[in-house]
Amino acid sequence: MLQTTIAGSLPKPSWLAEPEKLWAPWKLSGEELLRGKQDSAMVWIKEQESAGIDIVSDGEQFRTHFVHGFLEKIQGIDWKKMTTMGIRANRYDASVPTVTSAIQRKNPVHVEDAKFCRDYTNNKLKFTIPGPMTICDTIANGFYDTRADMAMAFAEILNQEVRELEAIGVDVIQFDEPAFNVFMDDVKEWGIAALHKAIEGLQCKTAVHICYGYGIQANMDWKMTLGDKWTQYQEIFPALNESKLDQVSLECANSKVPLELIGLLKDKDVLVGAIDVASLEVESPEKVASTIKDAMKYVDAERIFPCTNCGLAPLPRDVAINKLKALGAGAELVRKQLG
Ligand SMILES: [Zn+2]
Repeated sequence: MLQTTIAGSLPKPSWLAEPEKLWAPWKLSGEELLRGKQDSAMVWIKEQESAGIDIVSDGEQFRTHFVHGFLEKIQGIDWKKMTTMGIRANRYDASVPTVTSAIQRKNPVHVEDAKFCRDYTNNKLKFTIPGPMTICDTIANGFYDTRADMAMAFAEILNQEVRELEAIGVDVIQFDEPAFNVFMDDVKEWGIAALHKAIEGLQCKTAVHICYGYGIQANMDWKMTLGDKWTQYQEIFPALNESKLDQVSLECANSKVPLELIGLLKDKDVLVGAIDVASLEVESPEKVASTIKDAMKYVDAERIFPCTNCGLAPLPRDVAINKLKALGAGAELVRKQLG
């Protein structure tokens, strides 16, 4: 019970990429780069195991960015045709590539990386992958009639990828959809349908991570405008509860999301974010335990998976390690108290 896991990313070591920075360029290249990514994933798997994290991940050590790392291997995207686009409903500008013809996945994207991790750990393994709606909000559309059409096309190639990830022994496939609290109508109209297409035929656990974004300045400024209570999820949780996804991951630590909203996810596993990723202060195990127990007022302990609020990538490495330890220790405290 209370199996721990993480939302996804972990910091890159300073010898692999510039630390405390999103989209940091690699410091190695070619064969050395591949080996560097693998070494780094090994270190992080070990760190997660020693911290008592039950369902481990590669910490996204194989990609510079959670969306573009996947898109780099997809055909139909022109990386020379960069468009500056306001993303997450103009929260911030990003320079993004453009879809210029029908997208195709000629080769696996992360399957070899996941296989490397599968061979290295006996723990359950989670692999995270960008969700169709978030992909479509991070790339310019120069080919498909509508954003929904483009999302369905991405869902199809994501499905090819996740079937292969399942086949090599990945236990949980998680789709990251930080766009889900921005385009609430689209979520209901086609966002969840696109996820359904992406998980077609899977037997393993499937999760969706929804989120108010990493602790970067543009996100913090945006959060200031949302008021004291963030109720966006009230609109989409009933639809998510009806969906075919098994698990929902969201932020609960220092969060302004009213916790009672998770009561709307009564048929899902809930990945309860008990680690704040926007603060350098390391939580005490007691603090983590108290967040888990707060969540237990609305969700049965059997369905709670203590987790981080979001990715830890922008944090200093030692802070991230200590936060992982706090997460493991906090969950253990609650398990003991429950007997
Ligand atoms: Zn997140």
